[in-house]
Amino acid sequence: MSLPVVEEAARELDISPDLLRKLRDPEIREALEKIVTDRSAGSTENDSGDDVPSDAQPEIDYAVALAEAFDRPATRSRVANNEVRGGAVSNPEVRRTLTHDAIIEDQAAEPLAQDRFRPVPRKVWEAKDSATRHFVEEQYGGRCQICDDTFHKRDGHPYFEALYLVARTKARWIDRPGNVLCLCATCCAKLQHGPVEVDDLMDQILSWRTAHEGGDAPQLTLWVCGAEVVVTFTEKHLLDLQEMVRSEQGGYSGE
Ligand SMILES: [Zn+2]
Repeated sequence: MSLPVVEEAARELDISPDLLRKLRDPEIREALEKIVTDRSAGSTENDSGDDVPSDAQPEIDYAVALAEAFDRPATRSRVANNEVRGGAVSNPEVRRTLTHDAIIEDQAAEPLAQDRFRPVPRKVWEAKDSATRHFVEEQYGGRCQICDDTFHKRDGHPYFEALYLVARTKARWIDRPGNVLCLCATCCAKLQHGPVEVDDLMDQILSWRTAHEGGDAPQLTLWVCGAEVVVTFTEKHLLDLQEMVRSEQGGYSGE
């Protein structure tokens, strides 16, 4: 196609001329056709594991969702550890030969990089609000609110996980500091995957007062993986969580 024709077609189709030119590549066309076919077959995938919104999404009740986040007891008793077998090699010669042969076989069967991925249609949630993450980094310098641990990454910044207590995909307004904890990787994983329980969550949150108001240290006490842990907050941070719960629930006055 000559240049003016491409430009005109692009305008007509409402896509960029550059993209239209790329469609000349048969591989790109094939990938696009597959996307269209998969989509019409009703296939959807998303990489986040988050819920995909339905058309009519009910309003979130933040206090209820928060209470659910802290009410996740173990669903079965601890699975017995599989017997740990020693890693000693009893016949090095045979094992080396078998290992070597297996590697050579895998290398010989290595596919081209372009054959190791396939395009899939996916829904992507809007980006997190970076101000939320900046807030907790600023408040704690990246230190874990449970164990105080962190380390400095190669780029000089502290490593921390900003864990959303209630999934931010439930509502945009809950993407704010009170809904996020600043944690190390281990404490974050325990909260996400281990049993988590708490006594009197709403009372702990709503009865707290700032030092200026004559209150106590800003902290919450939880049970994580069977151990009692104290989550330490800054006043600004716990106040934000408190107001989130309050703004949602007329009944939760905490007075
Ligand atoms: Zn920690």
